[in-house]
Amino acid sequence: MAIKGVAASREDWREYVAVCSRIIDAASSGHDRRVLCSTLAHRADARARLGDAACWLADCDAALAAEPAHPGALLSKGALLSGLGRYAAADEARELAEQCRRLEAQARSGAVDLSEWVLAGFAGKFPDLAEYVGSVEVLRSPHGCRGFRCEERRVGGYFGNRQGGGDRERVIPDAADSDEKMFVWKDFVDKVLEAAEKCPKSAALIYTLSTGEERQDEFVVPDMAIFKNETEGDSLSDGTSAARAMGTQEAVHVDRILKVLDVNCLTEDAPAADVLGNNGVVNCGVGLWVLPSFINHSCHPNARRTHIGDHAIVHASRDIKAGEEITFPYFDVLVPVSKRREASRAWGFECKCDRCRFEAEDSILRQEILKSENDLASGGDIGAVVVWLEEKTRKSMVKAFLRASFWSTYSALYDSDKLMRKRGRRVPSEALVAESVADAVGGNESVLKAMLRGSRDGNGCGNRLEVEDKVVTIGRATYCKLVKRHAMRDLFRLTLDATNKINI
Ligand SMILES: [Zn+2]
Repeated sequence: MAIKGVAASREDWREYVAVCSRIIDAASSGHDRRVLCSTLAHRADARARLGDAACWLADCDAALAAEPAHPGALLSKGALLSGLGRYAAADEARELAEQCRRLEAQARSGAVDLSEWVLAGFAGKFPDLAEYVGSVEVLRSPHGCRGFRCEERRVGGYFGNRQGGGDRERVIPDAADSDEKMFVWKDFVDKVLEAAEKCPKSAALIYTLSTGEERQDEFVVPDMAIFKNETEGDSLSDGTSAARAMGTQEAVHVDRILKVLDVNCLTEDAPAADVLGNNGVVNCGVGLWVLPSFINHSCHPNARRTHIGDHAIVHASRDIKAGEEITFPYFDVLVPVSKRREASRAWGFECKCDRCRFEAEDSILRQEILKSENDLASGGDIGAVVVWLEEKTRKSMVKAFLRASFWSTYSALYDSDKLMRKRGRRVPSEALVAESVADAVGGNESVLKAMLRGSRDGNGCGNRLEVEDKVVTIGRATYCKLVKRHAMRDLFRLTLDATNKINI
């Protein structure tokens, strides 16, 4: 049928309406919502050509009833409303359609650009972000629990974010005493419970998360469709069916939700997280972001979180291969293995990442590391420990692991003119060490600062352009590709202004 051609006659359009009607009937009985909506939108367009305004509107409304943010139906309705002289409503429909298209493109490409917003000093409306980017999946982790996997190779891209959906609170840690924090926590819990009661989809999403009490064989791997952006579909019916599929009742399981919150809440002041756009105010928020909750810990992580407003954006902090598990650090990993062991036990698990295995399972190395730690704790020679670490191995990854574990020792050495005069010749430049630590832990603000400081001093890190590239690479690993190069410069300035030490 020559529908798309200029020569399509009214007869052709009538025939097209008839074909659409047959598809709509089949899709309605087969519960194929996607086909139903797009065919309704096509039939609406055909009816528009035939001048049948009443049926045109009915088709748009039917498509939008099944999928409230269907771009085709929204555009068609916008054209209809415009023809009827209802310009404001028409604009609203077109804007919503445009927003949906943008989010869908963002979800496909993973390309997010917050440059304008950063350059405006984080003022104005926060740019829209798709809630779920489709190139990831939840799966069983090799350690028995569930994990989060990348389906395609990623360098610094972002995976997606799950808005807190209003279930997020801000705490100002320095000003807040424990009573205030308790009040904020209670308020947050109330909001989550209220959201779960009001919205079956919210409840179903919360029920996908661990309570910390499951046996390994009890973990259910959720269907990724449940995490889709709400604007892409009829969230309420999705949520209800998902809740039913998981055997949950309409009534909210308060106990279960409390356990889930206990295990899965994320805070903005965690070492793996940055907060952008808080205009220098030291804030600490707590929230539940469903998809990031599936991400396991590693001391050799490949991802980080950036918090912007109510969004938690998880992004690659180093090159990730297709199929590799996505991990971010739950606690500070720029510390020796014994401290990391303590921290992981406090979280209720034993870290078995490749870095921990390397540093803890070789008994000779473990003893040497412990000795160095004890030396440092009792005021031993920082320079001697760094020289020992540098001479310990030639393998670059092993070196990167050890440098990351003794990062504060290296920093203390570089900070001291006296120690550098004594040992400086036997240790590599601060920028080189920072670059190598970034290989071990991905992007990190303190590593980025060291890189900037080292590159300003211009010692042994290549020419100016190479250095700038390296700084941008670590900057991307820390802040993701959220901002273009020119805005990245502003971000660096903000990072550095916070310490009032350096200007670039
Ligand atoms: Zn580890």
